[in-house]
Amino acid sequence: MGETDLNKERLELALEAAGLDLWENDLVTGNVTRKATKTFEELGFSEDEIVSGVQDIYSLFHPDDIDTVRQAVADHLLGVTPQYRCEFRLRSKAGEWVWYANYGRIMDGHSATPGKRLIGVTFNIHDRKCRETEIAQINQQLTEQNRLLQQLNATLERLAANDSLTGLSNRRTLMELGANECKRTERFGHPLSLLVVDIDLFKAVNDAFGHLAGDRVICAVAQACAARKRSGVDIVARFGGEEFVIVLPETDGPSALRVAESLRREVEALRVPAGEGGQGIAVTVSIGVSTMHKGTGLDFEELVNRADKALYQAKGTGRNAVYCADRLLGGGGTAAPAPRGPGDPAG
Ligand code: GH3
Ligand code: MG
Ligand code: MG
Repeated sequence: MGETDLNKERLELALEAAGLDLWENDLVTGNVTRKATKTFEELGFSEDEIVSGVQDIYSLFHPDDIDTVRQAVADHLLGVTPQYRCEFRLRSKAGEWVWYANYGRIMDGHSATPGKRLIGVTFNIHDRKCRETEIAQINQQLTEQNRLLQQLNATLERLAANDSLTGLSNRRTLMELGANECKRTERFGHPLSLLVVDIDLFKAVNDAFGHLAGDRVICAVAQACAARKRSGVDIVARFGGEEFVIVLPETDGPSALRVAESLRREVEALRVPAGEGGQGIAVTVSIGVSTMHKGTGLDFEELVNRADKALYQAKGTGRNAVYCADRLLGGGGTAAPAPRGPGDPAG
């Protein structure tokens, strides 16, 4: 055996050992000048069934992969890529799709076969592709699970932070955010005001119209409280049963009293449906207002307690009223009644 034949044999052995199937296409005639025989056998085709024209091979490509292959060939022919490389599925004789890869290059012809030709190897990448597909599916599932977990987390956070009946912040959130506002006041020096709003004689509402109607009243008053909220600034919370707290950062006493008085009036005008065909339920609220300034050294709990004391005064003097605790804050006086509307509440 001559050196050339020996080298050829070595090459064939090396290709076989590496699982590479050599092929060559004549770019001038479009003929397959060396067939990727092993690949076609692997796909279940017999020797005489193996295609001999480049175009015939395209009939075996998966429809979704044909453009990728054509593009890879074109890119290489145009010199965009130094090498022709692509991955694609071929249809086996039994009709199954099997993944392969092609690596190739343009070669100038030689004396025996002149003209440009594309020479390369095909090799089976089916297992890797299946694993990649599995991994991609698992990744997709994980992404979806992650999305659901985030949603669940957001829901849990919302449930933990908000009151389930009214959707307002709950007491825990209020105490946290309120404490921050006190610190901000001490730091930046702007006044901080707080309203404690309590529905008057609410027990009577429950007794007369039932607990569900009572809930609707609570929601209506909650909505009235929330309606004045400056988004991202104020805190509106359900403090307990029929009691609400509104925190107004950067708001002095007179401004807070105006907010309270306007809320009092709005609630007074509310008519909450009592049930089928029934008359609207009228309620009133009493409101205690307290304000803190930098340097007063108050914490949030004390601010709430002071507003609560003012509220108590409002209740004591007939309800449907706004009282402020400014004088209490100032040191020892009684809570001052704010300008108020018509006297006693409707029961
Ligand atoms: P006051 O003017 O002195 O505040 O009188 P009041 O009747 O409102 O007094 P009190 O605060 O003692 O009564 C509040 C009532 O609110 C007692 C409780 O049964 C009722 N309540 C508390 N939470 C809820 C709730 O979620 N829904 C309903 N419908 N009623 C509630
Ligand atoms: Mg009450
Ligand atoms: Mg109460």
